[in-house]
Amino acid sequence: MQTIQSVNEMQSHAIGLRSSGRLIGLVPTMGNLHEGHLSLVDIAKERADKVIVSIFVNPTQFGPNEDFDKYPRTLEADMEKCRARGVDIVFAPSMSEIYPPGYSTYVNEEKLSAGLCGVSRPNHFRGVTTVVLKLFNITRPDIAVFGQKDAQQCAVIKKMVADMNVPTEIVIGPTARDADGLATSSRNAYLTDFQRQDALTIPRALQEGKRLVDQGVRQVDRVVAEITHQLSLSRRIRMIYVQIVDRDTMEPAREIIPGRQIVCLAAWVDQTRLIDNILL
Ligand code: AMP
Repeated sequence: MQTIQSVNEMQSHAIGLRSSGRLIGLVPTMGNLHEGHLSLVDIAKERADKVIVSIFVNPTQFGPNEDFDKYPRTLEADMEKCRARGVDIVFAPSMSEIYPPGYSTYVNEEKLSAGLCGVSRPNHFRGVTTVVLKLFNITRPDIAVFGQKDAQQCAVIKKMVADMNVPTEIVIGPTARDADGLATSSRNAYLTDFQRQDALTIPRALQEGKRLVDQGVRQVDRVVAEITHQLSLSRRIRMIYVQIVDRDTMEPAREIIPGRQIVCLAAWVDQTRLIDNILL
């Protein structure tokens, strides 16, 4: 496995791989790798000849009062996990490689980014689309794999790729969960055992909502009310949003049409912000 830190070196290496006919698969991450990330590596390995994992804690997608400084950085352990999983290249650039002094260009998707997490995290998706387009230009991937766990991010990136004519296929991998049902996330590291027990209310509430839909309920308000109620039973949880939206457009659903929509949820578990979702 190769480790590359320089943008120029990564870019010329990727151009070389492409001209020799290799298919490049990229898995963009912010590190502190867990099974969610590694399951995306497996998908990339099935679909591409060379798999690149990028590890970069992207400052432009964090708000001023968010957890950029305390975000877990575990590069050595991450590289070991990548090696064990058969990753070909870890691209781990420094901050100044990606955002040199005087940096001033941003990519902004203006529609799908506006709702859900876009309300409570203004500029978050602008940071995501900017860094992802930069990573695509640096690593030249034929495919890039993202996780369903970040459903709005998936939709925004697909839209950015379509709007900007980026020649990369976006592949979405299913949400990986720990045995207790909690979606794996680097931010789970912030949770105490008690907080984690409360956090389990999130996947359970989503399951309850899905159960109603499976029983034939089609009223959006009814399903949202049930999920909100379930969350309210947990002392440490403060709901940020629960919304049923179209999977591709992120537009709020008026009635439930199974197979087309998704319940998206964000909540605070004390000081930790978690998101999760379930396909209807
Ligand atoms: P992050 O390091 O949190 O920026 O995530 C990097 C990629 O891993 C994104 O495409 C995420 O959607 C994906 N990811 C994070 N958690 C999970 C999970 N539990 N299951 C599947 N993919 C995930």
